[in-house]
Amino acid sequence: RRERSESLSDLMLKAQNFYIAELAKSQIGLSYLKERQISEATRQKFGLGYSPDNWQALEAVFGEKYSSKALEDCGLVITKDGHRYDRFRGRVMFPIRNPRGQVIGFGARVIGKGEPKYLNSPETDIFKKGQEVYGLWEGREAIRKAGRAIVCEGYMDVIQLSQAGFGEAVAALGTAIGEAHIRKLFKIVPQIIFSFDGDDAGRHAARRALEQALPVITDTQEARFILLPPEHDPDSLIKAEGSEAYEREIQHSFPLSTFFIDSLKAGKSMGTPEGRSQFLAEAKPLLLSMKEAPVLRQQLIGSIGLVVRMEPAEICSLIGIPFAAAA
Ligand code: ATP
Ligand code: MN
Ligand code: MN
Ligand code: MN
Repeated sequence: RRERSESLSDLMLKAQNFYIAELAKSQIGLSYLKERQISEATRQKFGLGYSPDNWQALEAVFGEKYSSKALEDCGLVITKDGHRYDRFRGRVMFPIRNPRGQVIGFGARVIGKGEPKYLNSPETDIFKKGQEVYGLWEGREAIRKAGRAIVCEGYMDVIQLSQAGFGEAVAALGTAIGEAHIRKLFKIVPQIIFSFDGDDAGRHAARRALEQALPVITDTQEARFILLPPEHDPDSLIKAEGSEAYEREIQHSFPLSTFFIDSLKAGKSMGTPEGRSQFLAEAKPLLLSMKEAPVLRQQLIGSIGLVVRMEPAEICSLIGIPFAAAA
């Protein structure tokens, strides 16, 4: 079993080196990254590459030495009707590395317009999407130094942020951010800043991140939220307005408690008993999930009391948690 996973990551490394060499030769790939303002140093840091627009490009790398089964198992090759062909063709390649720096998968972006915009490696023995955090290995020093991680949506956000001096940027992979990702990050740093796209999908992701963070966060940890204008993601904001603009977004980020209350208020008429009771009904399961942060929960209930015009002790008894007199 150990041998097997080592040989998978060996194949992935060979593929990565091939894609890097191809990028150096590819006018299309290089000009695409130039247009996206990615420098050569950044390209190298993230090991970016290019998969040629060719159905059998990897044959030149692996030839007869590797079985179709091994190449299929690592997700690089697809076999259909007895023919094998490359999964990734004509795309910018983003190697995904585990915390030890081994390549375990790829993200791949189409050049310009096309569907799907991103194609990712399938799950394999060495690539479990629900757990991997993109950029953790590349950002390990910056993360430790900053004492925080900035969690965003996309590969390009991580890379652009890193280039702009925010090396602590990471992203959840292909899937939405989950408890496992958050747990992993809070093991390394006491602060997480969630920084998703300003569009509806990004706002939705932020709300989901809140729900996923509540059961995990402890009283000594901090989560904050950046809400970008609807037309931007971190990458486009930095390109349009520079890294100072993003630094300002960090300075103005919302603490979890504010984001919690504001996002539950949205769409409700808090001036009415109905609105206030809907607010409490929605807050209840979220507050109950905060198993690791008793003090933060109590503080939050204090703030909620002002919004719903009730005493904290009343709220506690309504939702069925013991009321602790302020410590
Ligand atoms: P770009 O800036 O290159 O256009 P993005 O990162 O801003 O891309 P979004 O549409 O905001 O792209 O999506 C965020 C992330 O979701 C992507 O980085 C990618 O990881 C994932 N994603 C987007 N589209 C797809 C897709 N069609 N299939 C799988 N994953 C996708
Ligand atoms: Mn988006
Ligand atoms: Mn985006
Ligand atoms: Mn983008």
